[in-house]
Amino acid sequence: MKKPFTIAANWKMNLSFNESVEYATKNRDNFISLAQKKDLTLILCPSFDSLYPLNKMFTSTAVNIGAQDCSEFRKGSFTGQVSVESIHALGCTHAIIGHSERRKYNHENNKEIAKKCDQLLDLSLSPILCIGEILEEYEAGNTLKVLEDQLKPLKEIIEKHSPLELSHPMCIAYEPVWSIGTGKTANNNHIEKAFSYISQWAQTIDKRDKFQLLYGGSVNEKTIQTLCNIKELNGFLIGGASLDFQIFEKIIDCVLETP
Ligand code: PEP
Repeated sequence: MKKPFTIAANWKMNLSFNESVEYATKNRDNFISLAQKKDLTLILCPSFDSLYPLNKMFTSTAVNIGAQDCSEFRKGSFTGQVSVESIHALGCTHAIIGHSERRKYNHENNKEIAKKCDQLLDLSLSPILCIGEILEEYEAGNTLKVLEDQLKPLKEIIEKHSPLELSHPMCIAYEPVWSIGTGKTANNNHIEKAFSYISQWAQTIDKRDKFQLLYGGSVNEKTIQTLCNIKELNGFLIGGASLDFQIFEKIIDCVLETP
C-alpha cells in the first residue's frame, strides 16, 4: 500500500443519535490513539445529527470527523438539506459524496455530485468521492466506462480549484456497488485496473499526492489481508466493520503492518 493511509468509517444510519454518542464515548481514547498512529488519517462519519457532539468530543485530537453527504447548494430554500458551511462550522474536515446508497435511494446523478464537490472545495473541505459499478455493469465488463462517466463532470470542477490546497488530500473511493455490505469483494486484479484508471485520471488534474485512493466494499478482518496488496491503494472506506471497535482496530493494524 502507498503511504500515507486514510481510513474512513461510514456509520451510515446504522446508529441512532444516542448510539453514535455512546459508541464514540466508550471508545474515545481508543479512537484517539488509533488516529495518532504514524502515516494514518482517521475519519469518523456519523449521521448529521451526531456531527456536533462528535466534533466536540474529538476537538484538538487527531480524529477527523466527516459528514456522510452535503448539499450541492450554498444556501437557500432546500428543505432537509445541510450546507457545507454548516458542516464546516461544526468542525468537519471531510464529507462523503456520491455514495451508491445516495445514488440509488436519492437518485443523485454525477452532475449533482460534482456540484457537491465544488461546494466542499470552495470551503477547503476534503471530499470522499465514491464511485463504482453495479453488478450488471461489472458482469458486462463495463467498469472503466462507468468510472469514466462518473468522473467526467468532476474534472472541470476540480481543475477550477487546483492546485488543491486542502489540509487533507481529496479521497476517491472505488466501491463496486455489488460488494457493499454483501461480504463479496472484487479480486485485486479488477480493483487494480480500476485504480490505475482513477490514478491516471487524477494525475491529469493535479499531483498524485493531492489524492488518496480508497477501496470500499465488505472490508473486514477476513478480507483485509488480501486487499492490502492492491497497488496504488491508500486506504479504505469501511461501513459495517467500523461499527465494532475491535474489528475496526484489527483492520487498521493489518493495514499498518503491511509493508
Ligand atoms: C460503504 O458503505 O461505503 C461500505 C463500504 O460498506 P461495507 O463496508 O459495509 O461494505
